[in-house]
Amino acid sequence: MNNKTDVLKNKFTKKIEEIIDYDRPNDPVSLQFLTDIEKESIILKEEISDPIGDDRCSKIKGIIHRYPDRVLLIPKGDCLVTCRFCFRKWKLPHEKTELTYEELEGALDYIRSDPQIWEVVLSGGEPLATSEEKLEYIFKQLNNIPHIGVIRIHTRLPIVAPELVTEKTIKILKKNKPVFIVIHCNNEKEITDDVKKCCDLFVDSGIPLLSQTALLKGVNSEAEDLEALFRKLITIRVKPYYLHHCDLVEGTGHFRTTIKEGQALMRKLRGNVSGICQPTYVLDIPNGYGKVPIGPDYVSFDANELITVMDYAGTQHQYPPQ
Ligand code: SF4
Repeated sequence: MNNKTDVLKNKFTKKIEEIIDYDRPNDPVSLQFLTDIEKESIILKEEISDPIGDDRCSKIKGIIHRYPDRVLLIPKGDCLVTCRFCFRKWKLPHEKTELTYEELEGALDYIRSDPQIWEVVLSGGEPLATSEEKLEYIFKQLNNIPHIGVIRIHTRLPIVAPELVTEKTIKILKKNKPVFIVIHCNNEKEITDDVKKCCDLFVDSGIPLLSQTALLKGVNSEAEDLEALFRKLITIRVKPYYLHHCDLVEGTGHFRTTIKEGQALMRKLRGNVSGICQPTYVLDIPNGYGKVPIGPDYVSFDANELITVMDYAGTQHQYPPQ
């Protein structure tokens, strides 16, 4: 596993290097990937090294089981990058790690033995950086489990190393069960022509793309940043899915907005930006109790059950009692 010194080292790819603007103060890409030792050394009392309770929900090596109908399968524990705000930052190994076939069989047996599991989410680390041979094996096995309805992949690879997605990758993923890919992208600057080409490969093969974004101060904490990002994602055929409130990871206070600020941003998007560009603003409840939507409320009830609805411009309207 890693140690603190490893975590504080910069780790990113050639593609990211190409889009970092070293001359621009607070460049939204450099903020995400370049270590700021001074800020990251400030640990707030509410921050923890395992903010979403992965340890509590780990059942066997490679499996995190939080909800009855889905599991996370982590075929590869390390990433090609270390995002400075990552909720697994203090746990991501810096050396290359991949489940052995024996460990993988243990994880697959866990999935095979629980008929309630309907969805398998490949997460990480970077699942799409798993060796092709092992990825093919995983998909072959999952496709043979009757109770699995869908496979989801959470990945940053199309952003940080789009050239690693090949026709062979697509061929492996396309077999049999429906596959959804969720791409982690935080600022429109990350969406280069290469990223678009990579997304085209998936979508043209019939694999739907969704996105997840971490709400990060300085990276996308203005309504214009989010608007530009979500519009651009739609133009490359990626549906914005989640906007994550920044988790209580040790040393990430400089990235975190308040929930109220997040809700105000979502209000600004509503109405001004098409519904297809709107993600759900979510919070992972600390210690592994799952995700909940925390977007703004537009409906209120008074003591007499009278209903007031607020429109996107903030004007209130009465709605007939029910
Ligand atoms: S790619 Fe994802 S898992 Fe890897 S460091 Fe970044 S946020 Fe964490």
